[in-house]
Amino acid sequence: MDVEKFMLELERKHPGEMEYLQAVREVLESIEEIYNENPQFDSAKIIERLVEPDRILMFKVPWVDDNGQVHVNLGYRVQFNNVIGPYKGGLRFHPSVNLSILKFLGFEQIFKNSLTTLPMGGAKGGSDFDPKGKSNAEIMRFCQAFMLELWKIIGPETDVPAGDIGVGGREIGFMYGMYKKLASENTGVLTGKGLNWGGSLIRPEATGFGAVYFAEEMLKTRNTSFQGKTVAISGFGNVAWGAATKANELGAKVVTISGPDGYIYDPDGISGEKINYLLELRASNQDIVKPYSYEFPSAQFVQGKRPWEVKCDIALPCATQNELDKDDALNLVKNGCFCVAEGANMPSTPGAIEVFLESKTLFAPGKAVNAGGVATSGLEMAQNAMKMNWPMEEVDQRLHQIMKSIHGSCAKYGTDSEGYINYVKGANIAGFLKVANAMLDQGVI
Ligand code: NDP
Repeated sequence: MDVEKFMLELERKHPGEMEYLQAVREVLESIEEIYNENPQFDSAKIIERLVEPDRILMFKVPWVDDNGQVHVNLGYRVQFNNVIGPYKGGLRFHPSVNLSILKFLGFEQIFKNSLTTLPMGGAKGGSDFDPKGKSNAEIMRFCQAFMLELWKIIGPETDVPAGDIGVGGREIGFMYGMYKKLASENTGVLTGKGLNWGGSLIRPEATGFGAVYFAEEMLKTRNTSFQGKTVAISGFGNVAWGAATKANELGAKVVTISGPDGYIYDPDGISGEKINYLLELRASNQDIVKPYSYEFPSAQFVQGKRPWEVKCDIALPCATQNELDKDDALNLVKNGCFCVAEGANMPSTPGAIEVFLESKTLFAPGKAVNAGGVATSGLEMAQNAMKMNWPMEEVDQRLHQIMKSIHGSCAKYGTDSEGYINYVKGANIAGFLKVANAMLDQGVI
């Protein structure tokens, strides 16, 4: 395989799909060497088969708002690869959603799910619907209309969607209710369900907790820990909340959170009652960043900027893709940040990653760091299949073990001759090998 030649052809086939092409290039560059050392991969055209989804379902979602106005959104499910288990991956509701973003997320999900050690294939879906400012009734009607199409291609043994940006417990509930009615079955078809109807303990916290467990392993390689460290976090959604909570618990001080309009810097730390206040704002569908700065005088709201200009030891980007560029990375390194763990999917641009790798910063990609979310979804599926619930300690312990194991896989394939762990390379190779070998075993399908 020649990556440049391959990418030229892929760009010709899928022009303008920037995020998807970026994600494919990153994986190919990491695996090029090992791929070319194993001619059986090329003979079976593993890469040509892996970069194209098995299928894409695209549909319209008409729904009626509280004033009787009709709206039409686009809905998607990209079923990428199911060689190691049923398709699995979140649903994103955000106005920016398009096919390129969902294909990038679905492609990444194949390798992430492979890293978890659990039997799950890769998929992603969502809609350009914006849940912000909508009433509960509008959210419900939209979710029901969305499921009216999606239910045809999902099922507990075929495709098990979960949440992502804009899709939390409430949306999963509305979608699950509609699926159950249409399919006449009560199974674990979605994950992130409510605790009293099939959900798993720790699932809401899992992605953020898992990210911090992974970062803890990274810190151990430099004989240090979260204790006493200053942490910059972006976003304040499901992932950022879990990460902030666990980082505080391990003795760190979290000094930033952010939204699309700017960031909060609180040198006194964001913990305890401050986190509870943010959660209340989030639950009531309100902006959270500005109100926080009015409520807590120690905090400063920095309009239109990202938190990467703040002095910190550890950075956890937990908002969205391409939210940390080369200049941000240079700033972080200059200010003494020595560990960057991606809670979000692909938050760092290729230029930023180059800076981190060249400066030997501890840097790990989302597909490894945030895999705790889907791993705990896998644990939810296991509990549903057994028709039982594990206690909180058991789920947390399994999550912790999985994150350690993912760290071990990254170190196995990513450590260079000087002992530096290139987590990007390690995660991509470890995730790829399992999938590629399973594809060889199962023949050309
Ligand atoms: P949420 O919708 O819960 O939160 C997203 C947060 O990011 C919100 O605080 C949002 O602010 C903020 N945000 C959105 N766009 C920007 C921007 N351009 N700049 C700064 N902040 C922004 O999503 P999640 O926490 O679930 O997901 C966050 C990331 O983690 C995504 O990349 C997702 O794919 C990834 N991920 C999530 C998993 C999960 O279990 N939920 C699992 C694995 C990965 P506002 O609300 O004001 O728009």
